[in-house]
Amino acid sequence: MIGPRVLDAALRLPTAPAYLYDLPALDEHAAAVRRAMGATELYYAVKANPDAELLRVLAAHVDGWEVSSGGEHAHVTSLFPGMPVALGGPGKTDAELRLPHHRIHVESPNELRRLVATGLRADVLLRLNPDLPVEGAALTMSGPFGMDEDGAAECLALFTDRVRLRGLHTHLASGLDAGQLIGLAGALLDGDYEEVNLGGGMAVSYAAPDTRFDWEAYGAGLAALRGGRRLRIEPGRALTAYCGYYVTKVVDVKRVRGQAYAVLLGGTHHLRTPVTKGHDQPVTVVPTGLGRGPADEPVTFVGQLCTPKDVFARNIVTTVRVGDTVVFEMAGAYAWNISHHDFLMHPKPAFHYLAG
Ligand SMILES: *Cc1c(COP(=O)(O)O)cnc(C)c1O
Repeated sequence: MIGPRVLDAALRLPTAPAYLYDLPALDEHAAAVRRAMGATELYYAVKANPDAELLRVLAAHVDGWEVSSGGEHAHVTSLFPGMPVALGGPGKTDAELRLPHHRIHVESPNELRRLVATGLRADVLLRLNPDLPVEGAALTMSGPFGMDEDGAAECLALFTDRVRLRGLHTHLASGLDAGQLIGLAGALLDGDYEEVNLGGGMAVSYAAPDTRFDWEAYGAGLAALRGGRRLRIEPGRALTAYCGYYVTKVVDVKRVRGQAYAVLLGGTHHLRTPVTKGHDQPVTVVPTGLGRGPADEPVTFVGQLCTPKDVFARNIVTTVRVGDTVVFEMAGAYAWNISHHDFLMHPKPAFHYLAG
């Protein structure tokens, strides 16, 4: 359900398409996550959405930033000098290995050798890719990420008094609920590491926009497992997905071989999320249009791209007319920043921010 404040703002936007971010809602959500996590440190995974206005809101609630490139590092250190940064990501360049950090998440024995060779001080978490079952995940991070037990053992011999082992880092999967994440944490915290970053990947359900990951249960579960260790998490999607909206207008309605379509200004080159995740983006149609159109029947929402892949949502039962306003929810993470903006050279959306 889109609240009246957001709906009202969406209807007043001067141009379409546009992104609308609800900053007070983000502030409230991040504060609740912070409270629920107790002594567990909270970093934000910047790759989910690096928008500076969102980061300014999050900065009041997070302990630091997880960045995965030199570009993200430059972005957050210029915005928030002095805030802790954890530097991760596969394939770090020599220049990236030289960046200042609170922690660096080392992905392989060779990367650790190259880090030692810089001659700089470094505080390392080894990124482990453990052989743990992760059922029901949207995306598991097996494959090239991090290292197995052999790789980690090889690393142990490479540390020096300048390059220090601080603990473990893992990011096992995305789309896990609190119970699954606590189970994985229990298996990981078996070892004798004093510091563990448990990653992100908290579930976000696009099919049920009003449900939320159970932060209270996760916080309590980790508190029970902590036993004097320093724990950290680094969610992305579950922090910012809910505060973003993509607002546009219906430019055409039509029926082709029985199927009703609403063609919208813009497209998935602005909001790639439904295509990459293979879901229907949650949508609300506001009757601001005129004329005739499908009434209470399954409608497929498409954009202006000349490709059959440009689909936001399929067979949503609704009434829709040319000129109606269409609001997509859950467009605050892995949305604009993962999209192929320049494809077809349509105008870019405007960005608007609801303030408190
Ligand atoms: C992407 C990523 C995250 C954030 O994942 P979400 O699913 O957005 O919570 C955290 N840590 C690492 C290492 C990542 O690659």
